[in-house]
Amino acid sequence: MSFVVRGIDTEEVERIRQGAADANGQRALVRVAEGVANPCRHCLDLIAEGDDKLVLSYRPFASVQPYAETGPIFLHARSCTRYESDRLPAWFDFLDPAIVRGYDTSDWIRYDTGTVVAGPQIDATCRQILADASVAYVHVRSKFNCFQCRVDRG
Ligand SMILES: [Zn+2]
Repeated sequence: MSFVVRGIDTEEVERIRQGAADANGQRALVRVAEGVANPCRHCLDLIAEGDDKLVLSYRPFASVQPYAETGPIFLHARSCTRYESDRLPAWFDFLDPAIVRGYDTSDWIRYDTGTVVAGPQIDATCRQILADASVAYVHVRSKFNCFQCRVDRG
């Protein structure tokens, strides 16, 4: 089972950087990154301490429906390159624990897939969930339920 991991869509990120409204209808806030836990959801890299980050509300679903959770994310304020790879970013090992769960083709949570795992188990958990053909895709989220990335079949 191969999979593909992508950061959020570049056009959407550029609109946010240029001041478009976030999922709550507000402009992204600009803050200076502090500490080491500031993942950018576009390049899926960590925003360096001291760099500007955007803080905004994001809904990682195409449409509004009961399961379309909205939550806070960070983005690099500067330009960066969208992540796309057949493997998870190495630093995901430090998401400890992480929430991993599948969604169906209607973007509803597949409760039978939801699990909380240590960072090094995220890869195998994604593959296991995606092995069920009735699962459309997987979300990796932090222990705070903050969206990290979507994982699709490769
Ligand atoms: Zn970035």
